[in-house]
Amino acid sequence: MPTLLVISGLDPTGGAGLLADARVAAEHQVRAVGVITASTVQDTSGVRSVLPLPAEHVGEALAALLGDVEVDAVKIGMLGDVRIAQVIARALAATSAPVVWDPVFQASRGAALLEGDIEGAAAALLPEARLVTPNLEEAGRLTGRTLASLEDMRAAAEALVGRGAAAALIKGGHLPGDRSPDVLLDGKTATVLDASRVATGPVHGTGCVLSSAIAARLAHGDTLVEAARAAKHYLWQKLATAIAIGRGARCLV
Ligand code: PLP
Repeated sequence: MPTLLVISGLDPTGGAGLLADARVAAEHQVRAVGVITASTVQDTSGVRSVLPLPAEHVGEALAALLGDVEVDAVKIGMLGDVRIAQVIARALAATSAPVVWDPVFQASRGAALLEGDIEGAAAALLPEARLVTPNLEEAGRLTGRTLASLEDMRAAAEALVGRGAAAALIKGGHLPGDRSPDVLLDGKTATVLDASRVATGPVHGTGCVLSSAIAARLAHGDTLVEAARAAKHYLWQKLATAIAIGRGARCLV
């Protein structure tokens, strides 16, 4: 069974963060090992506060794990703060496994998931990333643009590849209309991954589920396009069967 390293925040509801990543891994027949970056106070209605762990502790946890366990892919989610991004980037020197970075800065309802220096986090992690997976707003914050079309998404992907990511997947889930197209740029090759929009009420953790599913497929040896297509289909199915465990947003896994 391949091994996926998840580096994520802890969402106690399990709708996002490390618990969700571990469930996605299990559903892909991948063993999850993991290091948390931050503890959060949240329920299914939103994130109330965030406590990043000391960066040195995160660095030591990663060094101990990667010194011992061989991993086949890495998924990075919530970072907490920029120093944690920097220690993660250093720790990744111990592995050549493909890294998927989901650059979450803000919970859909609630607190910031990365305080302050987004530029610093991007400078540290884009060069490590086999793939970076921003939504429209995150891609806008990373590139200083407003994204409203497939052309804008392609241009943002080019900018992120220009800054060191091997590939970028710009997620179009927040585009208007009844489709939800994503733009995948792998080096110089662009692919549009299209799907119908699934009508859901509020759901939680979509970005975590998609990026973990891509990383799990990469751990199995899929090409990036295969992994992104399979993960998008997996997310689509999860959106259609989301589970209410509390009074707020539904969970996908
Ligand atoms: N909590 C943690 C630990 C997360 O990693 C994330 C997203 O990545 C969230 C909360 C927010 O999830 P959402 O924006 O889907 O509510």
